[in-house]
Amino acid sequence: MKTRLLLASLLLISGSIQAQEARCSSLPVINVLPFEVTEDFSKTYRELQEIGASNGEVGLVRVRSSVWVSKDGCTATVGYREPVLHIASELTRDACALSHVKQHELEHVRLYREHLVGIKERIEARVQAGEDLFQASKTEVLAVQAQHQAFDSPEEYSKNRTECSGKIARLALNR
Ligand SMILES: [Zn+2]
Repeated sequence: MKTRLLLASLLLISGSIQAQEARCSSLPVINVLPFEVTEDFSKTYRELQEIGASNGEVGLVRVRSSVWVSKDGCTATVGYREPVLHIASELTRDACALSHVKQHELEHVRLYREHLVGIKERIEARVQAGEDLFQASKTEVLAVQAQHQAFDSPEEYSKNRTECSGKIARLALNR
């Protein structure tokens, strides 16, 4: 049964791993990438599966997790590149289904945004405790995954099965 809905977040680590040879004179400089979401409702359900949605998911917030550390190991740039909120084009036929799925996806967007608040300080604290800048940055960037998994609870999924008189589930099935 493909009644399971919604949104995984795809996380990819890009960037370079550089040896942190030099000791930085002070705390590392940490830049946080802006998080500006683009919406794309043009891909079909099938196309969403091809770009990372799990079976039965009709929406997806896709980002490229990014960690870049300068050669001297004193500057890091972290964040989530190219965030796109995808909703299967089939859902745009039904206002209730579209609005419900979009609301769910916007919660994923909020989780990314909130995670970026204070990420600089959390990385700094790890570095001060002796962690390598790249490792500290990677840990903090990927830590958001647990929050997305917690939000995509069985309760949330089962709610989505019955919302809009079950239309979301049917639209995914009758693609
Ligand atoms: Zn979700």
